[in-house]
Amino acid sequence: MLKGKTAVITGSTSGIGLAIARALAEQGADIMINGFGDAGAIETERARLEADFGVRARYSAADMSKGAEIAAMIETATAELGSVDILVNNAGIQHVSPIEDFPVEKWDAILAINLSAAFHAIRAAVPGMKARKWGRIINTASAHSKVASPFKSAYVAAKHGIDGLTKTVALETATFGITANSISPGYVWTPLVEKQIPDTMAARGLTREQVINDVLLTAQPTKEFVTVDQVAALAVFLCGDAASQITGTNLSMDGGWTAG
Ligand code: NAD
Repeated sequence: MLKGKTAVITGSTSGIGLAIARALAEQGADIMINGFGDAGAIETERARLEADFGVRARYSAADMSKGAEIAAMIETATAELGSVDILVNNAGIQHVSPIEDFPVEKWDAILAINLSAAFHAIRAAVPGMKARKWGRIINTASAHSKVASPFKSAYVAAKHGIDGLTKTVALETATFGITANSISPGYVWTPLVEKQIPDTMAARGLTREQVINDVLLTAQPTKEFVTVDQVAALAVFLCGDAASQITGTNLSMDGGWTAG
């Protein structure tokens, strides 16, 4: 379905981004992955994309908190792979703290990586998409782009911001064959979430089931995690012809969280 297309997925060395990268590669897209981590592990994932799906795969170490590096990443992807047809703005970090204690540098980093990075990447990628009259921009937002939770001021502000950015870009690009949408997962089962469980069990004297149901999934009515593959399948759908009239939306995949 995506043979001949090229996708850049930010924050794709783990979790949701890696699943999206693999799902787009499975559809035939050439891929540029990005993110931090162990160099050997990243090279293994890059090589697996090529071996498993017969596509070209590149890695960019660009830091999503730095606008110039983001623009250079889009330039490199265009030079090495021919174009950037699909842009998935997915890199994200979190910090949890009452607002009066919220470290200023954490606020700046979350706004930079979770919101401004998407601006820089979209700004750099849109001219090529407009010229080719085809593009797909997918922003990984969050249930926190629609509702708030205490102690997550920067994350909630950035994710609400990405919703506004997505809608604006959708309107600006609507007549160029480009769509721009957000995907808003609730709690997704990633290594990041899994690693929190033993510590929370110890800190609160709870069982594994109590941590999952009463702490992690307290806001998620289905009491089940979203999987990375479910998020990736929605991203693939948004890249297809069936989704060409879906633009400017913010699609929830949150087990009912934001219905309440
Ligand atoms: P993750 O920690 O597994 O992945 C985050 C990725 O971003 C990693 O590849 C990391 O290296 C990269 N990254 C972080 N800082 C970076 C920087 N400065 N420059 C480049 N890359 C950087 O987390 P995840 O759960 O897969 O999260 C991916 C996205 O999904 C984030 O935007 C997050 O807010 C969003 N999200 C996650 C959940 C969840 O429950 N896991 C729910 C809703 C939304």
